[in-house]
Amino acid sequence: MKNTSSSMREPARDVPVVAQADVVVVGGGPAGMSAAIAAARNGASTILLERYNHLGGLASGGMVLVLDDMWDAQLHEISVRGICLDLIERLQARGLAAFPRQHEWGTSPAAISRWTRWGAFDFHTQHKPHPIVFAAAFDPDGWKRAALEMVAEQHVQLRLHSWFSHALVEGGRIRGVVCDTKEGRQALLGSVVIDATGDLDVAASAGAPHIGGAYMLTTVFRLGNVDTDAAERFEHEQPAEFARIDKEVKQLIGGSWAHWWLKTPLPGVVWCNCPHMTGLDGLKVDDLTRAEVQGRAHIHAAVDHARQHMPGFERCVVIDVAPQTGVRQTRLLDGEYVMTKDDLAARTRFADAVARGRDYTTPYRTLLPKRIDNLLVAGRHYSATSTAQKMSREIPPCMAMGEAAGVAAAMALNAGVTVRQVDVKRLQAKLREQGADPGDQQGANPDVPALAAGLQKEAA
Ligand SMILES: Cc1cc2nc3c(=O)[nH]c(=O)nc-3n(C[C@H](O)[C@H](O)[C@H](O)COP(=O)(O)OP(=O)(O)OC[C@H]3O[C@@H](n4cnc5c(N)ncnc54)[C@H](O)[C@@H]3O)c2cc1C
Repeated sequence: MKNTSSSMREPARDVPVVAQADVVVVGGGPAGMSAAIAAARNGASTILLERYNHLGGLASGGMVLVLDDMWDAQLHEISVRGICLDLIERLQARGLAAFPRQHEWGTSPAAISRWTRWGAFDFHTQHKPHPIVFAAAFDPDGWKRAALEMVAEQHVQLRLHSWFSHALVEGGRIRGVVCDTKEGRQALLGSVVIDATGDLDVAASAGAPHIGGAYMLTTVFRLGNVDTDAAERFEHEQPAEFARIDKEVKQLIGGSWAHWWLKTPLPGVVWCNCPHMTGLDGLKVDDLTRAEVQGRAHIHAAVDHARQHMPGFERCVVIDVAPQTGVRQTRLLDGEYVMTKDDLAARTRFADAVARGRDYTTPYRTLLPKRIDNLLVAGRHYSATSTAQKMSREIPPCMAMGEAAGVAAAMALNAGVTVRQVDVKRLQAKLREQGADPGDQQGANPDVPALAAGLQKEAA
């Protein structure tokens, strides 16, 4: 073994092949779990690999607790359906999701006062107050439970605690992946591999062209023992005093959106999408470590202040800081098509659209790497410019991309073609048949999904 001051050479070693399937999905976040469910539902034997002990990625482990960007303000309809709505329905059945119904969408003062602190508003509008739209607040453990049920129902082979190490590529075609586990290295072979790591780990390792992106990091946390009624009363009845204390708390946090806390379906528990930290790289060990240390210092300073000064927060406690660091953007695929800010602003309707986000469509080509065959990507590392990704990376659109990638993988295998050769018209038809909305139609859908149409006011 050669030892230099800057590097060491690892000896070559044999790696056992522990499993083989039609489709191997790497990363069990919103995109990856949707991809695995969709591939398996369409007849492909499917392995889902995840480094942590749960499914859901940033949604559950990162405690990002509002599913938004699934509302088209122009068409006035829910734009992401399929697996995402199925998941919300399962959470709702257990009292672990809260969302405004059809009759509450808009700017009625009652709806604004009721739903703003749930984060169910359209923050893309310039005018204030932001209108109430369909968005779902949920419980992270509820997500983990529902996700495990959904992958089990489709007989996905789940392998948690498996950290992707490198891609196996032969002759320009991906053959599988190697991961690190407590048992040592393990190889898993697949005819199609879907990279859903969020950081493009697989595609980058396979040699697919990509760019380096960056955005702020956040250490999300939750507080318990909050009297949310008292806090909201104070906010509405004494707005000037509320604004003063709220500003002080936000200064101590060091970086946050306008609403630093939002309600969750658990009484007295709020989630805090802060503190934000800039200048850190979500791929670097040093920066990720710094984010945790720095983030906790900000959290405790801000929470101490809120406890002393903010009505409703007198007895609050930190329940948890998200186990998964809030990394929004790192590597981005430079794929067969690169989504731009202009595409999003113009609401371009792509002929090969396979997924929708807020009011935009996602072309299949943005899931296809150049050079490497039988590899698809889905989720926040899809092929987009850094600016475009910042506008199109929310959980529901990532789930829609995952669903499209999973169906595409199964269709390619059934047809005996590569994923690049999939018939996109048939893919769109298949997605629609299975309850998703690939964005292939011009106007609005004729129906409102049943879960949103209910006229009964839910007791929140
Ligand atoms: C702080 C913050 C706030 C946000 N707020 C919102 C919001 O309010 N609403 C909203 O809809 N979206 C929000 N987002 C965006 C959204 O959470 C993400 O863009 C979305 O979760 C991306 O889904 P994904 O599946 O592509 O990636 P991820 O959620 O990152 O999932 C990737 C999965 O891959 C796994 N993985 C990664 N590397 C490996 C590896 N090497 N081996 C094995 N497994 C691996 C991870 O553990 C994870 O489970 C927010 C994001 C952040 C960070």
